[in-house]
Amino acid sequence: MSTLTVDHLGKRYGAACALDDVSMVFPAGRITAVLGPSGSGKSTLLMAIAGLVRPDAGLVRLDGTDITGLPADRRGFGLVQQSYALFPHLDVLANAAFGLRCRGVARPERERRSRIALDRLGITHLAARGIRQLSGGEQQRVAIARAIAYDPPILLLDEPLAALDAQLRSGLRAELRRLVTDLGVTTVLVTHDQSEAMELGDQLAILRHGRLVQLGAPSAVYARPADAFVGRFLGAANLIPGTGVNGHAVDTALGRLLVANPPPIGACWAMLRPEDLQVATAADGGFQAQCEQRLHLGDRLRLQVGVAGLRLTVDLPNDYRIEPGESLRLEPKPGRTIAMPRLPDEESPDDQRTTAP
Ligand code: ADP
Repeated sequence: MSTLTVDHLGKRYGAACALDDVSMVFPAGRITAVLGPSGSGKSTLLMAIAGLVRPDAGLVRLDGTDITGLPADRRGFGLVQQSYALFPHLDVLANAAFGLRCRGVARPERERRSRIALDRLGITHLAARGIRQLSGGEQQRVAIARAIAYDPPILLLDEPLAALDAQLRSGLRAELRRLVTDLGVTTVLVTHDQSEAMELGDQLAILRHGRLVQLGAPSAVYARPADAFVGRFLGAANLIPGTGVNGHAVDTALGRLLVANPPPIGACWAMLRPEDLQVATAADGGFQAQCEQRLHLGDRLRLQVGVAGLRLTVDLPNDYRIEPGESLRLEPKPGRTIAMPRLPDEESPDDQRTTAP
């Protein structure tokens, strides 16, 4: 198992800064999901690791060895591109064997190893099929088989599920996770889909404008986003403007909210996920809110409530009885309110509201 490291990686395309001083470790045998909006530098990072983009600054290391100048074919990393880039004139077995063929592996050994890869992906029965006779999900498996057939030290997956329809995508997530975990290969997965990144990643790297804004376990990044951008990007977030006081509270229009982390001095946000609010346990506890909208989501109720000029999103148990127009008392669950910096450019009216994905 190999550890991959990038140190102070930078890449510009004219005025566009695709990567800005990105440093991080991709732990051996684990999946790192690189997540960010379109144009945040995800593909450039992946291509710099693959050796297909030459960074302007910084280093790529494999097990400590500097490989920044090494051409892609000598890195031998497995790459699965969004389009799969399969060869339509070759059958499935020949596609899976392609990387081995490029490496000069003799035919019998090539076939043996490709068949093992097809077997791992559960597609041995498709070996003689043409690529055009495959479904999207089957093509995806062939692309992965091709990438793993030569036991690469690093597996690079560029939006590997994006070309599939939603239902197939969610089914394949668990399968992909199981496969990569079984292989024990160090994997970099690029995606713009937050639920895919949360489900597949052992660690999550969030990029914005070419910068790494947060790195951590998915649950930790979700519960303690570094800033409002990350908070919103990973799910519904109630961002309540306020001012940090006493090192452990934020004064807001809802009153003084105790926060789980030391608040920044001055202007800040208090962030609460919809599930971090509950019906007040004491009759006069918490704050009074007006139910504006009620959605039954099956496993829970999602309410939009108005309070002190703010609009909050709240998830309650699905047996809670309330209708739009009625009021209720709400309070934050203990220890779940997070303080984060509020920058001058986040002061627009749009940012004062709750966001839901
Ligand atoms: P993402 O994969 O997150 O969508 P990219 O890595 O593709 O982001 O792009 C990051 C930035 O670099 C964007 O502003 C994009 O327009 C720019 N960029 C990427 N590739 C090129 C290129 N070959 N030429 C010029 N600009 C590029």
